[in-house]
Amino acid sequence: MNLSEIIKNCPEPIHLYFENISNSGLLVIKERGEIVDCNSGFMRMVGLTKKPLGQNIKDFLSSGYKELKLPNDSFLTINLLFNNDEKSEVFLKGYIFPLHENYKEHYVMIFEHHRLTHNELVLTLSKLNDEVVDLTRQLEKKNIQLKEALNTVKRIMNKDHLTGILNRRAFEKALKREISFAIRHKLPLSLVIVDIDHFKKINDTYGHETGDLVLKRFAKTLEKYIREEDILGRIGGEEFVLLLPNTDVKHALYASERIRQKVERLKISGIKGNITASFGITELSPSDDMKSLLKRADDALYEAKRNGRNRCEIKIV
Ligand code: GH3
Ligand code: MG
Ligand code: MG
Repeated sequence: MNLSEIIKNCPEPIHLYFENISNSGLLVIKERGEIVDCNSGFMRMVGLTKKPLGQNIKDFLSSGYKELKLPNDSFLTINLLFNNDEKSEVFLKGYIFPLHENYKEHYVMIFEHHRLTHNELVLTLSKLNDEVVDLTRQLEKKNIQLKEALNTVKRIMNKDHLTGILNRRAFEKALKREISFAIRHKLPLSLVIVDIDHFKKINDTYGHETGDLVLKRFAKTLEKYIREEDILGRIGGEEFVLLLPNTDVKHALYASERIRQKVERLKISGIKGNITASFGITELSPSDDMKSLLKRADDALYEAKRNGRNRCEIKIV
């Protein structure tokens, strides 16, 4: 059995292949160019989404290609410039065969490949370019959003949510940096731990919410009476810390005393009488690290509490 016999006697697989699978384009037309059928390969090739049944092939052809030469018995080669739905041109190269017997006046065109025309190339490139521009714009937008989100995360990570001043983590980072700077440049650096006196009583008497309000007012007061370059943080519930760069212990005491008096005179709505705080002051020595410096300020604070509260105490090496 040869191939001709197979095609003749068992045409189903061949039919299926040309109808749905093959990338060759098949088109059946009538004598005047009316399209009778086409396969999916043709639609892919020219960029059509549905079969152009009943339409005339000439309506799709660019000027200069509208003349269709029809073969008598054998076949002819054909070159067509086909305009698709998207108004781009596809250059088709193939063959046209006449059909006989039952299909007189019908012709089948077989196109094996197509070439991108200049028009199609320009259109494809400009489409791709538009997509790149669009994607770049989207990327820039996302980058801005990402930066904003990162800034928000950093802000949340560094700030104490209640008072808005530096939290322990951020304060310790600043402290390390300032210690290193002061030692390298042989500059004084003072540290003060400030703790509200009998704060538990305020909570117990007025409630936790009022306690929070006191903490906020207290932090604002500290912030108001320190210098621009001083660093303020909240390192515990009612425990605050002041870092005074380029300040020796004597001047740290002046500053602390001034603040202590401001706190003492503070009027807070909802609170009867006044609040007070104790101050533990120390100054950096060259042998210090963060831990030893904090420990000494804490010892000084303990002394201030022990000596009756609402006072400043100094401890140095
Ligand atoms: P002292 O004079 O010895 O420092 O006494 P104190 O009562 O201030 O100290 P103590 O450590 O006994 O109590 C501190 C209180 O601070 C207990 C805790 O419930 C309260 N506290 C801690 N964090 C917060 C907070 O964020 N809000 C409020 N309202 N209270 C807090
Ligand atoms: Mg306290
Ligand atoms: Mg405390």
